[in-house]
Amino acid sequence: MSGHLLVVGMARSGVAAANLAVAKGFRVVCTDQRADAPLVAGTEAHYGGHFRDDFTSAERIVVSPGVPGNQPDLLAAGEAGVRIEGELAFAASFLNVPVLAVSGTNGKSTTTHLLGQLLNNAGVTCFTGGNIGVPLSTAVDAGHTFCAVEVSSYQMEFPGAFRPRAAAILNLTPDHLERHGNLDNYAAHKCRMFARMGPEDAAILPVGEPRLRRLADALPGRRYLIGDSPGVRIEQDAVVLYDVHDPGSVSLAGFRLPGRHNLDNVAAAVLLAVCGGISRKDLDLSRLTGLPHRVEVLGERNGVIWVDDSKATSVDSALAAYRGWEGPFHALIGG
Ligand code: ADP
Repeated sequence: MSGHLLVVGMARSGVAAANLAVAKGFRVVCTDQRADAPLVAGTEAHYGGHFRDDFTSAERIVVSPGVPGNQPDLLAAGEAGVRIEGELAFAASFLNVPVLAVSGTNGKSTTTHLLGQLLNNAGVTCFTGGNIGVPLSTAVDAGHTFCAVEVSSYQMEFPGAFRPRAAAILNLTPDHLERHGNLDNYAAHKCRMFARMGPEDAAILPVGEPRLRRLADALPGRRYLIGDSPGVRIEQDAVVLYDVHDPGSVSLAGFRLPGRHNLDNVAAAVLLAVCGGISRKDLDLSRLTGLPHRVEVLGERNGVIWVDDSKATSVDSALAAYRGWEGPFHALIGG
């Protein structure tokens, strides 16, 4: 077959991309190394291995985040000039609402979840998904006015024309280096979110990350900082915005998520929302809730507070949770 759209990797993102491609009228071939990968109605399934010809004769290829960019058939398709995009970029190419993107080593899911709540509570309908929850492909033509999207570095291996209205990298510590090789390469993947931005789009970085700063300075987009001006800072009991279209403070009174790291997360979410065009006065931090298993307070017994932080699967994320905890504590660590 030729002239088809090929979806590579049929886990959740691949299935969602295949369904979207069918809805958009493509002739779709799906491929997976597993013989028992899920079938998608309206597509041709080439499972139990990859077939080079499916790749090199495709009109367009959509890659699931689980498939590494140096997969030999993908490399061959790239050399043959085939347009290759990640699922996120493919989905975004059909969206006509602003996308607000969250990346970083730690805190992505929490910040995306906070951002989605901020927007929905501010009266707009916001899709929340991407690397967390449901794939972005399911947001196309679903009637939202905004998309809050968690972006992993894997999803930026093939960024296509992905152009978020605002995108934040929360932090950067060594992770996933088995796939990205070294920290510079990992950072460069994250910065690809900024590559297609226009001068009015917001590229948000953490303060004190010269590696990211250097990379981002070479890219378009207006630069904002988490922790300084222009951007956002935590000051006493407020998140304070500097040099944005709606500067000033948003009260932290009633904000319930524990830990210093969650102040960084909510600051980033506020900045993203305002850069997306939401008014500061419509942001209510007291209504925000956290996600399960992320410094989640389970209860109190005999004066001891029990906290579940089982989503802290790296040293840095666990340390962030400990540093943010006030008073003595015992950590029960497994893994
Ligand atoms: P991710 O989606 O990036 O894996 P999560 O929001 O799921 O991050 O949080 C996972 C864990 O990472 C949390 O339980 C917490 O221990 C830690 N964490 C959350 N936010 C931050 C942050 N801003 N900086 C450092 N660590 C964090």
